[in-house]
Amino acid sequence: MLLGTVLRSHAGGYLVFEREQNAVYFCTARGRIKKDGMSILTGDRVELDEITPEQETAVISARLDRHSLLSRPPVANVDQVIIVQAVHQPEWNHLLCDRYIVHFHLELPSAQPVIAFNKCDLASSERLTALRSIYEPLGYFVTFVSAKTGEGLENLVKIMSGKTSVMAGQSGVGKSSLLNALLPEWNLATGVMENDTGVGRHTTTASELFNLASIEKRLNLPVGDSWVADTPGFNILELNHPAPPEVVWHFPEILELAHDCKFLNCLHLVEQGCNVLANLEKISPERFESYSAIVDEALIEYRTRKESSQKIETTVKAVGGKGNARQVPKLSGKYRNISRRKGKQQVSRLDLDDEDADNADADASEDQVADANATASSEEGLAD
Ligand code: GDP
Ligand code: ZN
Repeated sequence: MLLGTVLRSHAGGYLVFEREQNAVYFCTARGRIKKDGMSILTGDRVELDEITPEQETAVISARLDRHSLLSRPPVANVDQVIIVQAVHQPEWNHLLCDRYIVHFHLELPSAQPVIAFNKCDLASSERLTALRSIYEPLGYFVTFVSAKTGEGLENLVKIMSGKTSVMAGQSGVGKSSLLNALLPEWNLATGVMENDTGVGRHTTTASELFNLASIEKRLNLPVGDSWVADTPGFNILELNHPAPPEVVWHFPEILELAHDCKFLNCLHLVEQGCNVLANLEKISPERFESYSAIVDEALIEYRTRKESSQKIETTVKAVGGKGNARQVPKLSGKYRNISRRKGKQQVSRLDLDDEDADNADADASEDQVADANATASSEEGLAD
């Protein structure tokens, strides 16, 4: 029995790469997989049966456990998300950048965020240094690249080496151009989406995985087993938000000050005597602006859901004490065995429901992604 990696869905089945034969097979999923309601996504590792090399077909008999799962874009087994930002054209927007960081921090909490500033041919070195100085001290990996001149491309390849990466960022920042620079043989379409709230390429309708092996010869760089997913765009309104009091967990520099805030469930926005507000000079004004905006969006989303009686899930839970606190991810409660915490949490400031403040453990489950996609655009719209 052989193992393969799903490259993409195709004509009601899947294209699956099998390393030993170095071949791609068109596969259908065995009935049992469908019956169990098990989704197969780009990036999934699968067992192959009934391989027919002459016809380049096989059957997927099982799907292996996933070590990670992105819902937007839907890709399994991703190791890291590279948040692509343009330094110019379109002008860099700190709020958008921070929204991506929060979204992917929620989606892939174990990965260190990588921010790749593209179009560095268009900016001065002072500008690049300023950008680096915002994010590097926060523990994010920052790299500069130009799809146009090729500058920084080798560094980007090193970051991607041995991993499965996804590139994300709003339309026009140069994701397709970077993919083309890395994999010219694929000749992927580039162009800017007309709707500037789009977060990806309009030309792609499904996620597709590409192997970076061809780089090894072309750039004479060892890349190991590296993959990059080309993913369809998703609307910026579909970016995930944490529950309002948890936004702070995604802003390390604010979190540090929030630990010493005397108020329980403080949003650190207006309270007299709040330790964050007392130390605002320690936070970059842009980052605090992003924090406030994202808390506002999270509140709107929370209230919208509440009005429509949809349960909002906390997405992280805090473990460890003061000075040692960290967050661990939670998965959607829809799919876990219900073990609702009975104790009431003091969240009166926000008027959260008991269930909203639930900190029960969660188990990974099937089809979160399919569900997230199906409901994404209808459920998660934020007010303009
Ligand atoms: P995507 O929407 O993120 O996939 O962005 P595209 O790859 O389609 O690029 C959008 C526009 O930016 C295109 O006109 C590209 O030619 C241009 N572009 C991409 N990368 C660079 C770069 O490094 N430097 C410059 N000057 N332009 C770039
Ligand atoms: Zn506070």
